[in-house]
This record gives sequence, C-alpha cells and structure tokens, in this order.
Amino acid sequence: MRVIMLGAPGTGKGTQAGLLATYLGVVHISTGDMLREAVAKRRPLGREVEEVMAQGKLVPDALMIRVVAERLQEHDCARGFVLDGFPRTVAQAEALDRLMDAQGRAVDLVFLLEVPEAEIVKRVSSRRVCLGCGRVFNLLLDQVASAGVCPTCGAALVQRADDTPETVRERLRVYEQQTEPVRTYYQKQGKLRVIAGDRSIAEVQRAIQEAVKRAITSTTSR
Ligand code: AMP
Repeated sequence: MRVIMLGAPGTGKGTQAGLLATYLGVVHISTGDMLREAVAKRRPLGREVEEVMAQGKLVPDALMIRVVAERLQEHDCARGFVLDGFPRTVAQAEALDRLMDAQGRAVDLVFLLEVPEAEIVKRVSSRRVCLGCGRVFNLLLDQVASAGVCPTCGAALVQRADDTPETVRERLRVYEQQTEPVRTYYQKQGKLRVIAGDRSIAEVQRAIQEAVKRAITSTTSR
C-alpha cells in the first residue's frame, strides 16, 4: 500500500506515519529526516539544504523530487511506503503521480492531520529530538525527556534548529501557502481522508487504521 501523510508542522505526522508503516509492514520515508541526516553527516545534499531548512522555507521542488525519486527506486519500497513530508507542493504531487505512473502504480490513500494552531505551537515548542537515534519526545507527554538524555541510546535530547517560535511561524505560513493546495489536489482524486489530530497518539492511529481497513474492503469488494 502507498500512503501519504500530510499535515502542518507539529500535527504528529512523523509519529503517525511511523506507526502506520509498522502496521502495514512497509517503509516509513520522512523527507525531513532524510535531509536532517544529510545535514548532520555533512553530505553535499546537506550543505545545499541547511540554510533553507533553518529558515523554515522549502527546499526547491526539483531537488526534492530527485531525492524522493531515487529513494522510491530502492528495493524496500516495492511493497509500498508511508511518505511523510512529501509532497509539500502541487508540483511535487504531480511529479509523484508521474513517478508512480511510470512504475504502473498509484498512491492509494492520503491522510491529512488537522490540529488547531494554538496546540501546534505548544507541541512544537516542547518537542525534543535525540541527537543519537533521532527519536522524538515531547516534554509535556514524556517525563523521561525532561532529563535531557535519550532513554534508548543515552545521547542528548535537543530542540530541532527549526522548532524556534519564529521559524515555526514561518513554517506554518509556508504550509498554508504552498502545501494547503496539495489537499485540494488529492481531494479531487478522491484519496484524501481528513483526521482530527488533537487526540492521543493511539486514538489518532486507530482512526487512521480504520480508514485504511475501509479502503481495503472497498477495493476488494469492487
Ligand atoms: P519536516 O521534518 O517534514 O518538518 O521537514 C523539515 C524541513 O525540511 C522543512 O521545513 C523543509 O525545509 C525541508 N523539507 C522536508 N520535506 C520537504 C519537501 N517535500 N519539500 C521541500 N522542503 C522539504
């Protein structure tokens, strides 16, 4: 199954995409994680995107499309994927459809997580990420995170460079201008499922899995 997880920063799309990928037995591909890794490892791609990311702006479409096209050709994507953070513009959504077409495949479902803006600001300012293993914590939900050390690998927990209040505001503005139109793109294809994200992680995941089951039942009963 090929699934896309859409949502503004702080709506929980990374967490939900990871859980859904495990449930479906497919890979979780986060473009944000791929770029952050390239920055941390000082790869040429990382040097190209570091400044744009720190400003909360989007990496140019042509570059992102190339990165994702290469990733989707890898063997582990053959059974499907949950894509998180891509597409973020209509041009990226169109490119993804062309890529899928060329493989004789298609995106099956698109989830959009919706969370009120006040809740987003609260969540993002309390988000911490492990410098070692990349695990994400929330100071409001995970008491262990307040110690500042990852309980899994022992590395330091830090705030993401783009989680500062000014950058978050810019990321929300970019989302509204450039990513909101992607919603209409998939709505027209009949693939969009809007999920209320201001509930517990488990409740949101249950709603997502129920929508997946309904989609599978309706395809097999056709
Ligand atoms: P995320 O972890 O999904 O919030 O992504 C972090 C940052 O990576 C974004 O604010 C962008 O600067 C960059 N980025 C990730 N995915 C994309 C994409 N599909 N198109 C453009 N920029 C992206």
